[in-house]
Amino acid sequence: MTYETFVEGYKTAKTYKVRSYEALKIGSRILVWDGKEERVAYVYKESSGAEELSFLGVLDSFLDVERVKLYKWIADFYSNSPSDIFSLSYPSGLERYIKIYVTPANEFSPFKKMEKNEFIEKYSRSKYKKYIEGGLLKLKVEWRLPRVRVRREDSVILAKSLKEILEMNLNTDELRIVQRIMEEGVVSYSELLKDFINVAVFSLERKGVIKRGAKIKKIKLREDQERVVKSIGKGVNLLFGHTGSGKTEVYIEIMRGKRALYLVPEVSLIPQVVRRIRERVRNINIGVYHSYMSSARRVEEWLKVVFGKTEVLVGTRSALFIPYRWDVIVIDEVHDESFYQREGVVYDAVEAAKKLSENYDIPLIMGTATPRLGDVYSDAKVFHIKRILPPPSVEIVDLRKEKMRGSFAIKVLKEMDEVLKMKKGIMVFVRRKGFGRVVCSRCGYVHMCKNCDVAMTYHVNSKTFKCHVCGYEEKAFDKCPVCGGQLKIVGVGTERIEKQLKKFFPDKVIERADREILSRPEQIIEILDKFSRGDVDILVGTKLISKGINVPRVGLMVIVDVDGLLAIPDFSSRLRAFQILIQAIGRSGREGGGKSIVQHRGMDEELLEYVSKVDIEGFYGVEFERRKLFDYPPHKDLIQVLYSSYDKKLSESIIKKVASDIKGCEIFGPSEYPIPRIKGKYTYHFVVKTKNVRKCLDKINNSVKVVEKKGWKIYVNPPSLYYT
Ligand SMILES: [Zn+2]
Ligand SMILES: [Zn+2]
Repeated sequence: MTYETFVEGYKTAKTYKVRSYEALKIGSRILVWDGKEERVAYVYKESSGAEELSFLGVLDSFLDVERVKLYKWIADFYSNSPSDIFSLSYPSGLERYIKIYVTPANEFSPFKKMEKNEFIEKYSRSKYKKYIEGGLLKLKVEWRLPRVRVRREDSVILAKSLKEILEMNLNTDELRIVQRIMEEGVVSYSELLKDFINVAVFSLERKGVIKRGAKIKKIKLREDQERVVKSIGKGVNLLFGHTGSGKTEVYIEIMRGKRALYLVPEVSLIPQVVRRIRERVRNINIGVYHSYMSSARRVEEWLKVVFGKTEVLVGTRSALFIPYRWDVIVIDEVHDESFYQREGVVYDAVEAAKKLSENYDIPLIMGTATPRLGDVYSDAKVFHIKRILPPPSVEIVDLRKEKMRGSFAIKVLKEMDEVLKMKKGIMVFVRRKGFGRVVCSRCGYVHMCKNCDVAMTYHVNSKTFKCHVCGYEEKAFDKCPVCGGQLKIVGVGTERIEKQLKKFFPDKVIERADREILSRPEQIIEILDKFSRGDVDILVGTKLISKGINVPRVGLMVIVDVDGLLAIPDFSSRLRAFQILIQAIGRSGREGGGKSIVQHRGMDEELLEYVSKVDIEGFYGVEFERRKLFDYPPHKDLIQVLYSSYDKKLSESIIKKVASDIKGCEIFGPSEYPIPRIKGKYTYHFVVKTKNVRKCLDKINNSVKVVEKKGWKIYVNPPSLYYT
């Protein structure tokens, strides 16, 4: 039989035909010979006609027809080569667990079973190929599975009352463990062994202070949660709920007894989700999957899933590609832009999950307080759940009318003082990290990155100037390179705010959370934990501090410099600013009575009005109509085409050439990218608005291929046009 296949390493959407004597399953990963070398290929569909490549053997058949359909769609819609999408399903390092043998194909074969590479060494590659093609040999793949540890995790609880424990004269290490269990109610045994001195854990067990055994928190769902659980069905479901409304409880009930994939936008959210599931469901096999894991760990988790050992998999967007037939898919914080993959293979994991749930005929549940605009006005079933507590109050402070101290209105500082007196914590949201931009006080010179059209940012701790786009860094200096005048630092960044607050509140513990000091997910979790425990009074941070994880104790959230959010020339910046503000505001008042303050200098009044009322539906209605005026998504699809090269003139002429080639599609631009030069390369772009992505993409791809091979980026419906 003949099959069409996608071949790895070929950057093309073209299929190649192979013939096999045995029937092949659609989606099988096979080995083929292309005349020069052996390659991996994926069986796309049955076909007829002459073979173009020789078939060598089947590696595995984990992908099913539904996934093949999905991957072909992702390739077409986001303009990728199909084999690149298929290979996302196989983690690197998997080769170590596969042994390929050649075995006699029939009784007349003069050979014995031996390892493929051994055979090639002994007889040569051409004989290997010739005997397989001639039907004397065939390939046989054996999996050498590592011993997959399936952790039926033991949960640990306190077995004595606090009073009894305090009378026992425990040492500091032991007390720290007790403290952790008190804070979390239930902790997994392996987590304790990982985080604390093992001797202390064993000793507590021996003394009977801690006890292993699942203590499951029985949560009675509220009526509105119960209703959602009962009514969620196949297809796309949007769970619309403010922060603190109990979405996670709903997910857990829906997943109970099913095989579920649970996607989150950030690695740092995974442990919290895992912990919540463990508290609710007895003896469950939970897997995790993300890019911070070692390759060996990732392969182990992958194997657990494909061989059916994992009941719930919690992971970031790449987990969607593990070949497994889930019963249900959950996407939490679905508004987050990180579900859109821009580097390498381009795809939107949320749109892909919608297709997969359709192909598998299973429910997809997307939860958020601030949905994507298109999802609100789509066929998705929309469910609302309410926050039990009243929403936090929001005060808008116009700094143009206020007496200031540093970057704060004096009345805001007074309010912060009140909150601190009540022993509550404060979060201060700042848009940028670092201290500020570097400017000459005499001639106005702005110190720019040598590779990018971006102002350098001063960093106090490292005493350096850094480019936040390309990462270029140099030792700080204080004389203007043009006129010799004194350089000064202007603008607002996390480091400047931290320094100011340390001066205003000298006896308080003030910490900073941005990518500059927190690079690993566990560091983010740790600092938020510290804040929750009350070990930090004021936490200054970027968007990092407003994401997902449940953090108690936030009495006040101050948003310092909101105006910059709208300074970005992008169709999505209004919605994005709104989402960031609503998410940040949602941080405060988890226990009721919280407040948020938004400082601004004349930002869009209408937007701030909706923010102050936390009126999400209201704002979405206005934004939906506004985008209709300009045909922006979701009214039409958007294709952004970018070209970059080291030669400015060349970039400009190439993008113009392609834009003029494309007829019958509505084109805007071409123009310089908002940051014209990045890492030394000049970028130009244009945007197509269309109701027929396929048609315009075909035209773009045809033109692009003719004009220039390398340097292109094509994004279909990107969350924003401006990205660094
Ligand atoms: Zn100067
Ligand atoms: Zn740079």
